[in-house]
Amino acid sequence: MTHLTESDVDKLESLNPATGDVVGVHAIDDAASVAAAVARAREAVDWWTGLGFDGRKHILGLWRGVLTRRMGQLADVVHQETGKPHGDAQLEIGLAIEHLAWAASHAEKVLGRKRKAPGLLLANQAATVEYLPLGVIGVIGPWNYPVFTPMGSIAYALAAGNPVVFKPSELTPGVGVWLADALAEVVPASAPGALLQLVIGRGETGAALCRAGVDKLAFTGSTATGKQVMAACAESLTPVVIEAGGKDALLVDADADITAAADAAAWGAFSNAGQTCIGVERIYVHERVYDAFLAELTAAAKGVRADIDGQLGPMTLPSQVDVVRSHIDDALARGGRAVVGGPGAVGERFIQPTVLVDVPEDSTAITEETFGPTVTVTRVGSMDEAVDLANAGKYGLGSTVFSAKRGPELARRLRSGMTSVNSVISFAGIASLPFGGVGDSGFGRIHGADGLKEFTFAKAVARQRIKPVMNLTTFGRDAKTDTAFATLVTALHGRATQLGKRKRRG
Ligand code: NDP
Repeated sequence: MTHLTESDVDKLESLNPATGDVVGVHAIDDAASVAAAVARAREAVDWWTGLGFDGRKHILGLWRGVLTRRMGQLADVVHQETGKPHGDAQLEIGLAIEHLAWAASHAEKVLGRKRKAPGLLLANQAATVEYLPLGVIGVIGPWNYPVFTPMGSIAYALAAGNPVVFKPSELTPGVGVWLADALAEVVPASAPGALLQLVIGRGETGAALCRAGVDKLAFTGSTATGKQVMAACAESLTPVVIEAGGKDALLVDADADITAAADAAAWGAFSNAGQTCIGVERIYVHERVYDAFLAELTAAAKGVRADIDGQLGPMTLPSQVDVVRSHIDDALARGGRAVVGGPGAVGERFIQPTVLVDVPEDSTAITEETFGPTVTVTRVGSMDEAVDLANAGKYGLGSTVFSAKRGPELARRLRSGMTSVNSVISFAGIASLPFGGVGDSGFGRIHGADGLKEFTFAKAVARQRIKPVMNLTTFGRDAKTDTAFATLVTALHGRATQLGKRKRRG
């Protein structure tokens, strides 16, 4: 395939980041075609919601079948557009399939109508709540996990009853096309509109999607772009989910299994060439096991190679190479040391694993998302100190704890949306768990029951079953009713206050 020329301004090409070869050429969607896509999605709304949970589950099940049977084919496209090893591509696809299955099969249980207790004051009412689809969902995705990450929004939005318009990263449009084509194969030809469509382009196409009147926008990408997305969506009060960057910490306690911790830390830090939002970027180790841990991590890091056929692929986004280099340089300039890798590990396309020690906490290698195969290791005197340092940053996406006795306790004290104890990144593969962050890592949740609810609105209905003993919502309410109401409220809640007072006095 040849490269585009200057006259091809309305097209973009996706490249193999390992070789620079052109993988595909795609027409760019401008604001008008984004608006048209949203209009087509809107035509599908009544049909898709009308299918109900069972009908949607059936079609999503057919799609799951196609994804599963052709996993190898899709992995090829992911491999070509991101450069990641085929096995890693297959891993993210397999986990995305697991999420699709969970979302489709749990939607009714999570979102379906449920009776609620009306309370004594309104005991004559029957109360129900259900979670209804919002309409059309816009999804903007990144390139690092071009199947797993956007599918965390797409699968849950569809299962909740919403058609989707998806803008993949300009680096991975082919993956997006493959996913949408696979769903189109199993949607009946008679279905109106379009259930899952792609809009392709750069930032402007994403910005157009924010302004195209979607009913919610699910964004996954950097914190900086997340702010722009939120600002654009604010113009029309379009709600957003922001799944942004991270600077995840891994804590190693004095009683941890050091070999397991080092193995997990190496994988968490270096896999996917470190281009993982929930990748391990900082490690805090109890001083009693610091030397032993560092020795094991060093050995593990030396066994990992970034190469065209290594365990690590190239940097998918060429400009990320400069960010990684600058973080390593900053760490070394401030007194840090590279015990594995270092500036020489940063090549033109590939970066070798780098382990940095003695890095001050205000270095960019500790404060900013590096998104490369580098990690800092810091000695701490206690796990309290480790928790404080881990929580000091502006991000709060994921985290990891290795500890024999205090895992769950330390996990709860870490200010991050998700924590794995004695393994790494496992929370992302558990479909029933919500995924998302706090602080600069964003807000809202994908995955699990929260992820289904994210693409709905709560619909509350109060139905009067029998006439009330006291009619409170009428201008005909009299003094007798007011007195009876006050007596009832006092009977229900007055005692609690007195008990509270007595407790305070005691
Ligand atoms: P970017 O923020 O650069 O891009 C994300 C998406 O937004 C891309 O599709 C991009 O298009 C699009 N975009 C760019 N500008 C705009 C705009 N003004 N309006 C609307 N959309 C726009 O992120 P990356 O693709 O570089 O992904 C890496 C980042 O994603 C990292 O920070 C990583 O931590 C984060 N991430 C977070 C995850 C999470 O779940 N929290 C999971 C995975 C990644 P284009 O690519 O065409 O420029």
